Amino acid sequence: MVASKHETAERIAPTLPAGNDAHPLEVRAGALELLPIPAVMVTIADGTFRFEEINTPFRQTGLGTSAARSPLAHLLGGRVRSFLGSDRDSEQFPWQVGDAVDCRHYRVMLARSRIDPVHRCLVTLVDQTSEVRTEYSLRREMLTDSLTGLPNRAGFSDRLEELIEGDAAPSAGCAVMVVDLDRFSRVNACLGSLAGDELLITVARRLKGSLRARDTLARIGGDEFAILLTLDEGREEATRAAQRIQAALSTPFRLSDLEFRVACSIGVAFSGEDERDAEALIRHAQFAVNRAKKSGIAEVYHSGAFVIAREQFATETALRRAIDDEALSLQFQPIVDLATGRVASFEALARWTDAGGTARSPAEFIPVAEESGLIVPLGRWALGHAARTLAGWDVRAGGNCGIGIAVNISAIQIQRDTIAPVVEQALAAAGLAGERLTLELTESAIVTDPDRAAATLHALRALGTTLAMDDFGTGYSNLGHLQKLPIDVLKIDQSFVTDMLADRDKVAIVRAILSLAQTLGMRTTAEGIETHELGQTLAALGCTHGQGYAYARPLDPEAAFAYLAERNQLATA
Ligand code: C2E
Ligand code: MG
Ligand code: MG
Repeated sequence: MVASKHETAERIAPTLPAGNDAHPLEVRAGALELLPIPAVMVTIADGTFRFEEINTPFRQTGLGTSAARSPLAHLLGGRVRSFLGSDRDSEQFPWQVGDAVDCRHYRVMLARSRIDPVHRCLVTLVDQTSEVRTEYSLRREMLTDSLTGLPNRAGFSDRLEELIEGDAAPSAGCAVMVVDLDRFSRVNACLGSLAGDELLITVARRLKGSLRARDTLARIGGDEFAILLTLDEGREEATRAAQRIQAALSTPFRLSDLEFRVACSIGVAFSGEDERDAEALIRHAQFAVNRAKKSGIAEVYHSGAFVIAREQFATETALRRAIDDEALSLQFQPIVDLATGRVASFEALARWTDAGGTARSPAEFIPVAEESGLIVPLGRWALGHAARTLAGWDVRAGGNCGIGIAVNISAIQIQRDTIAPVVEQALAAAGLAGERLTLELTESAIVTDPDRAAATLHALRALGTTLAMDDFGTGYSNLGHLQKLPIDVLKIDQSFVTDMLADRDKVAIVRAILSLAQTLGMRTTAEGIETHELGQTLAALGCTHGQGYAYARPLDPEAAFAYLAERNQLATA
């Protein structure tokens, strides 16, 4: 009879020598028969092992009834001997008998006899085989992906840990490769999740087939597989494995009547002197796979890129808070009419002083805002704030102050935000006519989705706003786009302007842009004018407007208004 763990704890405990209770065997004869678990009284005299009393459950264990033939004496004799030679009254330990398939697991309890404590001891066995097997299969289930039968993330992590922490680490270390299927969610969405499952199983089979027997393949996420490569020769082994994987997936897949291809992105991280943490290695490979998704080539993890990404993440978190707390501000840089010298408008430029008091440059935080999507709330805020500032200047000028305001709009805003209604609302809230607002766009806003961009630009134009192409000359300078889209102003990028007088090529480029603008009936603003001499030259070449340190640096709202009042001779209240 096999005792459950629960029974064992309750029934055996009192039979073990505890305090002054007499041992049951010594109280009544035949007490061993009452124990529902295998027990045997053994004696060791003159180094010889002998079974004295044996209960029925013990007979049924197949561990023999004579000490001479019992594996118990054979395998545990030494332990029993050393127990009797010790000063302990009882002892417990796990014991495994038999080979891997057929093995039984016991908890062995040794208790010294009171009558003859030097030579006699009671050996009680609690059979825990079924518990151990259940635990083992549960554990295996927990570490296995039920769809593919491969190790899951926990299972993979266990194996990786064993390998990097074990003594048998391969000579050239190991590599963790993460393979992420591109656009797998489309298969689920279009063909159903059963088809998705079938595809994953096929992919798993192909991946397995492309690996060496000693490599471990796991499924660590929905469409994410991980491979543990042991490297004996060097890191090129990982490159070769990546090539084999790409080749294995390049043959089209067939599901129902459909034939299609599955592309994948691969990220690799290598174990090394400084990287012996399994979880970190998997995370690094996942980081590399995210970069691979953008670059389109297999990427190897570099700590430098990781540090940059972590910094960007910190910037993103702080910027999100700054937007929520309205801790951003705008500065205003005048755009001057080169013919008259009067201020025509101000460009609103975002400024951020972080919680530590450091002024963060837009060149740093605008790209982070674009990447994270924070540019949408930031852009809405900038529009609203710029419009309100201009409306405030109107009030101070006792009516329309005669200038406009220019706000930068990022490509992401055109793609993701419903920009025209947002602009309309900002104008209405400030009580401004659309003609007072210029929106500065870059060419990237147009090339990604020209049709959608065209519709948006026409909607913005319908509100009366002016559209300016910012940083012109640095992007694609696609004349086709320029001609078709309702662009009013070309802003010539400062990289052509600032040191133009010392560089004939730049003069030629600026001339070409000016003549193009004239042909297309567009106005021009030269950015980055740092000297008045340059301003005059540009005016002579036909440029209509200028912006740069020669006129003013970006100014706080108060200083900007004072500049405007003086330059345009406003009669202010
Ligand atoms: P941008 O729109 O081309 O703005 C002009 C940049 O040139 C500004 O830099 C300005 O301070 C700088 N600048 C003006 N005159 C001169 C000059 O004479 N010499 C030199 N060396 N630089 C001059 P800033 O303020 O650092 O802004 C950088 C960029 O950040 C802007 O370039 C714009 O693309 C972006 N940005 C700023 N605010 C916003 C915003 O609210 N929304 C969006 N989407 N982008 C913004
Ligand atoms: Mg601009
Ligand atoms: Mg610019």
